[in-house]
Amino acid sequence: MKRIVIVGGGLSGLAAAFRIRQAHPSYHLTLLEARPRLGGNIGTDRVDGFTVERGPNGLFDAKPHAIQLCRDLGLADRLIPASEGSRKNRFLFLEGELHRLPGDPLGLLFTRVLSFLGKMRVLSEPFRRRPKSVPEDESIAAFARRRFGKEAADVFIDGLVTGIHAGDPEQLSVAAAFPRLPLFEKEYGSVLKGFIQSAKLRKKAALARGEKPAPQRMWSFREGLQVLIDTLAAKLGDAIRTGVSVNRLSPDGGGWQVHTDAGPHPADLVILTTPADHQAKLLSPWNPRLGELINSIRYAAVNVAVLGYREQDAPIRPDGFGYIAPQNTKRDVLGVQWCSSTFHDRAPPGHVLWRALCGGVNRPDMTTLPDEEFLHRVQHEMMMTMGVTGEPVFSRVVRWPRAIPQYEIGHPKRVAEIMTLAANHPGLILGGNAYRGVAINDCCEQAEEITRRV
Ligand SMILES: Cc1cc2nc3c(=O)[nH]c(=O)nc-3n(C[C@H](O)[C@H](O)[C@H](O)COP(=O)(O)OP(=O)(O)OC[C@H]3O[C@@H](n4cnc5c(N)ncnc54)[C@H](O)[C@@H]3O)c2cc1C
Repeated sequence: MKRIVIVGGGLSGLAAAFRIRQAHPSYHLTLLEARPRLGGNIGTDRVDGFTVERGPNGLFDAKPHAIQLCRDLGLADRLIPASEGSRKNRFLFLEGELHRLPGDPLGLLFTRVLSFLGKMRVLSEPFRRRPKSVPEDESIAAFARRRFGKEAADVFIDGLVTGIHAGDPEQLSVAAAFPRLPLFEKEYGSVLKGFIQSAKLRKKAALARGEKPAPQRMWSFREGLQVLIDTLAAKLGDAIRTGVSVNRLSPDGGGWQVHTDAGPHPADLVILTTPADHQAKLLSPWNPRLGELINSIRYAAVNVAVLGYREQDAPIRPDGFGYIAPQNTKRDVLGVQWCSSTFHDRAPPGHVLWRALCGGVNRPDMTTLPDEEFLHRVQHEMMMTMGVTGEPVFSRVVRWPRAIPQYEIGHPKRVAEIMTLAANHPGLILGGNAYRGVAINDCCEQAEEITRRV
């Protein structure tokens, strides 16, 4: 019987374990998680009637993998969509005001965040040719300037990178962080054409499945994303060991010994899904170059301030998803998610629940402030941006020192080399969000890929 040990009980590890169990029920599977609770970045708390997400707020259906995992776990009926308002109304905070983001290219004509020339530069994108010599790996900022012009790059693309990666658009690789964009340029000669085409394909695929075509949106559960983690845990049962930290690997015949404080676990196959620094620590003794490459993947730190206000103290309560302050504005808060507008019963009646995200690569100083000073700064920002007049009735600080891996220029090449070197070690598979996508969907897609390799 094949013995498989998965290291890390975040979504990557749990989803991979579930998929492997589905495909190979007879294999002996063990999942080792260092912390007492499973889920890694994902977790929901219920406090005084507020439903508080510590990490992700929801999962997107832009790709099918996360929704499919929920279906396969029997959770399809419990999924709830984000509100219609949150799908349509997303904002930027610029020059002291909230500006609604255009929902489509034509909406650009009415936005005040771009000059007339800036708008024309975006709308003429489909007619712009791809230059003959494009660097093998380009930064997101350089790609966006080339396709959409500097104004749009500084506002929209910075906002996008801030919202997803809390990273620096000048440093991040477009091919690694937003692989669809260069693909669209190659395939359709234009990013805008690519989006239009992929929306058409999505519509066609829904009709072919006999479903009503629906726009892309975010999903969660009434009780929060914890439902996904708890259901995976229940399905995996006694394969899971929490509070067990893996501190060393040693090759053993064609497999490995996985060393923990509680003793070794022999494995024919080890699947690592922990953050990059931990994977590097385990592999460096056996392959220093592999360890060095993995260790060079940097992370951005993010602090989440969760705030509950009485409605009367929060006069501006847009029906929307939230706002982003592009990082080049260097504000104390990167963005605010209006959680109780996105999923309606996140706050008790008469209250709102918001989450302010702070830090990222441009403002790491915000993540090291003591709680009191940190909340004071966020609270001040809420007065400026949202017109808040009173103190929150509820607040909590969640710190993620290694929140989001940064796919910097050269990432695709680095990952290719990492995977080639790892392939020289029999019985080793590398996964987790450090390599090929940071979204929940990417972790679920990776679980399917790992299972194929198993
Ligand atoms: C604040 C925040 C907001 C986000 N928002 C969204 C969102 O809205 N939508 C979205 O799609 N994605 C979002 N993400 C990204 C997404 O949550 C993560 O990319 C994903 O959850 C990563 O899962 P993972 O299992 O790869 O890694 P992790 O969640 O980091 O799990 C790794 C696990 O390894 C364990 N581990 C570490 N060391 C050891 C050891 N020595 N032995 C055993 N186990 C160990 C850790 O304890 C952890 O449980 C967000 C992330 C953050 C931080």
